[in-house]
Amino acid sequence: MRPLVDPFGRTISYLRVSVTDRCDLRCIYCMSERMRFLPRKDLLSIDELDRLCAAFVARGVRRLRFTGGEPLVRRGFLDLLEAVSRHLGQGLDEITLTTNGVQLADFAQDLARIGVKRVNVSVDSFDRETFARIARRDRLGDVLGGIEAAVAAGLKVKINTVALKHDNAHEIPDLIQWAHARGHDITLIETMPLGEIDEDRTDQFLSLARVREDLASYWRLTDLPDRTGGPARYVRVEETGGRLGFITPLTHNFCEGCSRVRLTCTGRLYLCLGHETAADLRAPLRDDASDVSLQAAIDAAIALRPKGHDFQIERLRTPATERHMSVTGG
Ligand code: SAM
Ligand code: SF4
Repeated sequence: MRPLVDPFGRTISYLRVSVTDRCDLRCIYCMSERMRFLPRKDLLSIDELDRLCAAFVARGVRRLRFTGGEPLVRRGFLDLLEAVSRHLGQGLDEITLTTNGVQLADFAQDLARIGVKRVNVSVDSFDRETFARIARRDRLGDVLGGIEAAVAAGLKVKINTVALKHDNAHEIPDLIQWAHARGHDITLIETMPLGEIDEDRTDQFLSLARVREDLASYWRLTDLPDRTGGPARYVRVEETGGRLGFITPLTHNFCEGCSRVRLTCTGRLYLCLGHETAADLRAPLRDDASDVSLQAAIDAAIALRPKGHDFQIERLRTPATERHMSVTGG
């Protein structure tokens, strides 16, 4: 089958699948405390998610990342991974996931057995009180236990940290040292204006250009060539010997080489994290068991792919999209 190429000549080789919008945490920059979740009946079944993944792998998608919400709270998640793993080495290079780590200790062995090699774990603080304030749940102990279990199972762990002016800015150097001392890469992320939350994001926005300047005043940061094809720019911290990534959607636009599209748990395909442009794949998936309508719908969707996102710092107060990161999958 023909590969998926968008109107700007970018080949789609990476699919992120949000398997649920639900979560066992309520991070302040991501959700409101009283977040309303989708009714379960609106979710695609595990078999349907598997069919959609297969349809994309057939069109040249080589990497699948499962996310959410929290992927590990989705019932049947391991069955989905088990099913999708049949494509590994048959067009698919990699299955990964992004998790908050709360339940990782229970899943790590199975993930490794199925063929997952790497996981991203989000940790915004390793101070128990700060973590509980950011996540609105006192679960840091579970997350750290989850990371240990992942390492013990042979998984490579990367840490993701959202930089927050008031909550964790002072902790960032310690977080980097902590991650590097354990052999984990760590990526810092700027808050993005996705969905209504209880706070004002402008107030928490911390420019990573500033953070980088601060770090460079006492560490040597050496630029590394971008090898992941993703939005992060990497440096090596010479003093710790570890890799540090920066995802800066607001201070630096990274859309040029973007190879990824995002599928939600209701079967909507989003062509860009920062745009409302999307296509429904659920109806064609259910209409036709042969995948002909589904493949036509995927082609029509890719033809609508916008050039890039348009996040702006001064517009942080009003979300760029109505949907939260937990819906589209971060
Ligand atoms: N629950 C999992 C987790 O936290 O890793 C997976 C889903 S979460 C939406 C994926 C990533 O998006 C996390 O690293 C999270 O910190 C980040 N994130 C969520 N909302 C964000 C926002 N508004 N701006 C920037 N990053 C955000
Ligand atoms: Fe849940 Fe991840 Fe959002 Fe935190 S960032 S509320 S862990 S989906």
